[in-house]
Amino acid sequence: MRALDTGALLAWPLVDLIGCLCVPGQVAEVMKHSPERAMLIQSQGPRFLSPSTEAIEQARASAIETGDLSGLAAVDLEILALAIEHGAELVTDDYRLQNVCTNFDHPWTGIIQDGIEDSWTWTLECRGCRRQHPALETKRKGEYGNCPECGAELRLKRIQNSN
Ligand SMILES: [Zn+2]
Repeated sequence: MRALDTGALLAWPLVDLIGCLCVPGQVAEVMKHSPERAMLIQSQGPRFLSPSTEAIEQARASAIETGDLSGLAAVDLEILALAIEHGAELVTDDYRLQNVCTNFDHPWTGIIQDGIEDSWTWTLECRGCRRQHPALETKRKGEYGNCPECGAELRLKRIQNSN
C-alpha cells in the first residue's frame, strides 16, 4: 500500500492513484493547481482517510526529533501520519518527509521512479558552519555527533550528486 503526497497526486496518472491513500486536506492543495484534477481525483482517485490523533502525534514527535517539523505543512504531517498508521510506503519528493522516514525506518519512494534515487546521497551537514561531512552507516537522530570543525550539531541531509 502507498500513501501519496500532493506532488504525487498531481504527477501520477489517475489509474496509478487508485487504491493509494491520501488525506482529505490534499484536495484543497490539488484544487489550487487544477480544479479539474481535484474533481477527477475525488471521483476516481485514491482513498481519502484522516489519520488518527495518535498517528499525528507520532508523526509530529518523529519530525521534531529529526528537526524537520518547522518545514512541514499540516497536510504534510497528516500524510506522514497516515503512512505510519497504515504501514504504507510514502511517495514524496519532499526531502523533509524522506528524512523523517529514513530516520525511523519507514519505507518511502520518490515520485519519479526511474532510478533518480541513485543520484541522491545522504550527507551530514553542520548546523553551525554548514560544512558537509560524510554520512556513515544509517544512524538514528541524535547519534550523528558534532562538527569536527566548529562543534555544532550535525544533521542528516539529502543532497543531489553533481553527475
Ligand atoms: Zn561546523
